[in-house]
Amino acid sequence: MSGGPRGSYREPMTTVDILREGARIGGAVEPVTGARFVVENPADGTVLAEVHDGDAADATRAADAAAAAFGPWAATAPRARAEILLRAFQLMTERHAELARLVSAENGKPRADALGEIAYAAEFLRWYAEEGVRVPGVAGVAPAGGARIEVTHRPVGVAALVTPWNFPAAMATRKIGPALAAGCTVVLKPAAETPLTAFALADLMAEAGVPAGVVNVVPTTDPGAVVDALLAHPAVRKLSFTGSTAVGRHLLARAGQRVQNCSMELGGNAPFVVCADADLDAAVAGALVAKLRNSGQACTAANRFFVHETVADEFTARFVAAVDALPLGPADDPTAAIGPLIGPRAVQRVQRCIDAAVAAGARVVNQPAAVPTDGHFLAPHVLRDVPEDAALVTDEIFGPVAPILTWADPDDLVARANATELGLAGYVFAGDTGSARRVARALDCGMVGVNRGLVSEPAAPFGGVKQSGLGREGGTDGILAFLEAQYLSVQE
Ligand code: NAD
Repeated sequence: MSGGPRGSYREPMTTVDILREGARIGGAVEPVTGARFVVENPADGTVLAEVHDGDAADATRAADAAAAAFGPWAATAPRARAEILLRAFQLMTERHAELARLVSAENGKPRADALGEIAYAAEFLRWYAEEGVRVPGVAGVAPAGGARIEVTHRPVGVAALVTPWNFPAAMATRKIGPALAAGCTVVLKPAAETPLTAFALADLMAEAGVPAGVVNVVPTTDPGAVVDALLAHPAVRKLSFTGSTAVGRHLLARAGQRVQNCSMELGGNAPFVVCADADLDAAVAGALVAKLRNSGQACTAANRFFVHETVADEFTARFVAAVDALPLGPADDPTAAIGPLIGPRAVQRVQRCIDAAVAAGARVVNQPAAVPTDGHFLAPHVLRDVPEDAALVTDEIFGPVAPILTWADPDDLVARANATELGLAGYVFAGDTGSARRVARALDCGMVGVNRGLVSEPAAPFGGVKQSGLGREGGTDGILAFLEAQYLSVQE
């Protein structure tokens, strides 16, 4: 057990209790010895926990534990694995308030956002409990006769899971749920900003009956060393990564050395299209969700607003009124709708993008609120006249900033919306759903919300095209990512 007092995520997070947390390896909570790092609440800088800083040796031990647990777990009946996942879903649901408090504490997101994330995260466990007993197979006759074709699926092996801080619960269960349902064992490397949610999930899964070694968690401030050690381990056959395109590209090259199976959920630059006949109130409601959920720190966040020129002024006026009415604050303020960004560097980066756009001729058209000084807050900004070569348009903003561009010709709209190497989410609002679907189909995006500002759905395939990723999570595709087909050619 740990070398110091371990708090519980069931307790409120206060400055009084600083948790001390070690890696979860082979069913044990590791003692907190040697190097450690602190986890802070981004709303006010409060230190929440001291966490053991994992290294390559920890990663190797965790992969060893996952390798030892793999055979028995893969051989466990799919129904038995499913029952455990269902129990974990039930525990998450029972404890949603406590888990949401933990997510808010380390990520900063408002309580309503955190509650939404826990509900979404839990659903991956239920969905994959259901999918785990429905893995498809094929039995057939070879067209030339004389042989039978039998195809079944088996788990790919030990999986290294790497997750970001922006949805610390959902990005973890979106991988753990299908991995475990498929019969894989895992080593999760959470983001250093948000390891506490990962620990809470691993503990909850153990309580639900997940055997020792099936889910291991190694936090670190040196992700390169830890993930390198995981990828070098002979039992690790899968890398499932969610994070930035730059890191994803690097890890793909690294995993290529041993031809490891990779799933990549990377960055986005979502176009949000408003057509001339759109219901503008619906478009504004969708824009608020698509832009400001998690203060704009979502891979699916609307990045570029393309509004038809005939409704651009009206849409902007209504959007600005709605944005400026949203209160900022820490998650324990129940009225807060906008939380802090994850850290000071994030605030500086987004502010630099705003300043550069303004220097190039853009106008801030809303009244950004004054922000609390003790956290990493940035008020939402809405801009017009943003040059299309500004970083606010070409890059993933990852903050509460909305550049509004206009369009007139549908072909020109599609060309501009697709003029990016990223292609994760997109959004189209139009009165005529036929034309909305036509625009949606023309977008080079893995997912498009049609008259909706939210695409995330455990039952649907989540993922991007171009440099937004490889493969899909969620839906029936999500479990196939942790399975490999085996084909038997059987002589008649
Ligand atoms: P990031 O790429 O910096 O970090 C993601 C994870 O990778 C973290 O666990 C981090 O510790 C780890 N990491 C960083 N450098 C590494 C290295 N050299 N080797 C191995 N691991 C390394 O991204 P972030 O800032 O945490 O998250 C924001 C990004 O994630 C955005 O681009 C966002 O769009 C993307 N994202 C994508 C999805 C999706 O489903 N497509 C979902 C959420 C976030």
